Amino acid sequence: AFDNRQGGAGPVARRLDNLGAASVLFYRAPIEMVSAQGAWMVAVDGTRYLDFYNNVPSVGHSHPEVVAAVSRQIATLNTHTRYLVAGVDTYLEALKARLPSALSNVVLTCSGSEANDLAMRVARQVSGAGGFVVTETAYHGNTALVTEASPSALKRTAPPAHVVTVPAPGREAYGDDIAGGFARAIRAAMAELDARGIGTAALLADSIFSSDGIFADPPGFLRPAVEAVQAAGGLYIADEVQPGFARTGSAFWGYARHGVAPDIVTMGKPMGNGFPMAGMAARPEHLAAFCEDTGYFNTFGGNPVACAAGLAVLRVIEEEGLQDNAQRVGARLKSDLEEIAARAPRVAAVRGAGLFLGVDLCAPDAPGTPDAAFTVQVIDAMRDAGVLIGAAGRYGATLKLRPPLCLSQAEADRFTEAFAGAVLP
Ligand code: PMP
Repeated sequence: AFDNRQGGAGPVARRLDNLGAASVLFYRAPIEMVSAQGAWMVAVDGTRYLDFYNNVPSVGHSHPEVVAAVSRQIATLNTHTRYLVAGVDTYLEALKARLPSALSNVVLTCSGSEANDLAMRVARQVSGAGGFVVTETAYHGNTALVTEASPSALKRTAPPAHVVTVPAPGREAYGDDIAGGFARAIRAAMAELDARGIGTAALLADSIFSSDGIFADPPGFLRPAVEAVQAAGGLYIADEVQPGFARTGSAFWGYARHGVAPDIVTMGKPMGNGFPMAGMAARPEHLAAFCEDTGYFNTFGGNPVACAAGLAVLRVIEEEGLQDNAQRVGARLKSDLEEIAARAPRVAAVRGAGLFLGVDLCAPDAPGTPDAAFTVQVIDAMRDAGVLIGAAGRYGATLKLRPPLCLSQAEADRFTEAFAGAVLP
């Protein structure tokens, strides 16, 4: 965490002066960036950093096709969403081609938070129940409703009565039977919401459990939990803000690895490669039930420039074979990291799918003891080696790897080398 009381001159003091306590900066000595391309970011002092931190510019920083599409559209027409603009529908059709056919209505928003907020409201309307089940260290966004369902954002309070948490789907909580254990925990959470007289509107889950520390395996483990929720009349909201848009390699959406059928899919971050856009896909009848009561309008959501960015992103993923690249480069990276883990006593586990990996760091020779202080040391050492990376998880001791999907094998090797330097004795 950065010390907001730090005074003095320079860009950090200037930022603190402007943003105050809401300032969120990475590193004790934050980096001032000036440009970025592909998987690389360039700082004001000319240092080039390999970006393993950032799953927003997912097809690569400053991708020329996205830049051209946005520039063209903003020079032609940008307006709110109350007019017909053909490009908007072209984009929605391209996006829907990637989604389950039942979820044939898509509402575009400007942030993942707005998409999840809407999804939670729709789930309440459709189910007639008020409660949500989420994982223990989940993050789903920043509106009032979504913050209540984001335990990792509730620093001093427990979630309210309408939110019940379950441990993340890992071995720590459920041993070898992750699917069975997770489903039992979900059923118990729903029983608790019933006992409170609230009932379950939805299971809201990020299908790769990013904030919880990245839990991807075994594929299919989500299915019994999702089926239990749906059998009880609740909805499954697949929060694809992190794993969506080809990152997990084997599928375009993270939930697809689990063979489940979401009732609602929310998406964001990589959707516009940095142009702010997000969305919620739902069944027409669910959306209709919601809109009858409340209506929904979003001034900027799905504006023509956002749709131009979104369409370019879908095209680039296809044209450059980025899902395949995520699968191939990600699998090799994972096995290289596992090889290092076997020799590094402070690397306890490597998890993940495609180009979304988590690496647990632990106390010396104590694989069961997460070590957040060591994790900060590794993050700093990697920065000194020119690699940007962050942490996640309940203990803040899981490195979260999310490089752009265009990552080359040489760039992955560069990461592996810096990682080995930071963790091998
Ligand atoms: N869901 C998940 C899983 C997220 O990680 C985030 C952002 N970190 C959000 C939702 C919220 O998205 P946004 O910041 O665009 O509002």
